Amino acid sequence: MNTDNCITLENVAIGYSGKVLVKDINFSLKAGEFVVLFGPNGSGKTTLFKTILRIIPPIQGSIRYGDGHPTRFGYVPQRQFLDEIYPFTVEEVVLMGTFGQAKPFCPTPKTNRVWIEQCLKDVGMLDLRKKLFSELSGGQKQRILIARALATRPNVLLLDEPITGIDIIAQKKIIELITELHKKRRLTIMMVTHEVHHIPSWVNKIIHIHHYKVVLGSLEEIISLSRIDEIPTEG
Ligand code: ADP
Repeated sequence: MNTDNCITLENVAIGYSGKVLVKDINFSLKAGEFVVLFGPNGSGKTTLFKTILRIIPPIQGSIRYGDGHPTRFGYVPQRQFLDEIYPFTVEEVVLMGTFGQAKPFCPTPKTNRVWIEQCLKDVGMLDLRKKLFSELSGGQKQRILIARALATRPNVLLLDEPITGIDIIAQKKIIELITELHKKRRLTIMMVTHEVHHIPSWVNKIIHIHHYKVVLGSLEEIISLSRIDEIPTEG
């Protein structure tokens, strides 16, 4: 495995409008690592992703990217964040992933069409490319959002709760798909999940947001911390 750091956070505080949600964040992601981000609802996991993706600035501290190598992100947001009012086909949703590299007012080049077919193939969804996104099952939608993230040609993939709200068989298959992409495409992966039993035992790092701070630990340590989070506080 390549041991270069592709993202390094030093004394970072995150939040909105100057109000700190999580502080003293110090960790790095090495190229090729698979990292799981864990923590109660509302603790700041999505905010941490948005900060790493430069959608919002850190309130304090610094984030270093690449250490000499370009970092290209693919982002898989929570499924419900894609507005289903628009009648997009599967193919059109995946095509959105190429817009960052597109020239304004130019038709989609044929190479992009070929590329999105490859991304759809990689997630096992090529046959459904003409279907409406809104008509798919939860697990299928998740695969399409992963294909859209792959269409950006990332070397780092951030996935926000990719297996929440889908049935247990689909959950297992999505984890298998993410694992395969991690290995085949040598992607660095950071994934938010609440489903402890689906976390592969070989993951490189588990990061837990616990009481406004970031804690790094083993799967067992993090599970016991998350049990503490579930204990109701008095008053
Ligand atoms: P998690 O992903 O761990 O469930 P989030 O990072 O989505 O948590 O949210 C953390 C907190 O930040 C929540 O209290 C949420 O209401 C708040 N929050 C999220 N987005 C914004 C925003 N754009 N402006 C202000 N507060 C926000």
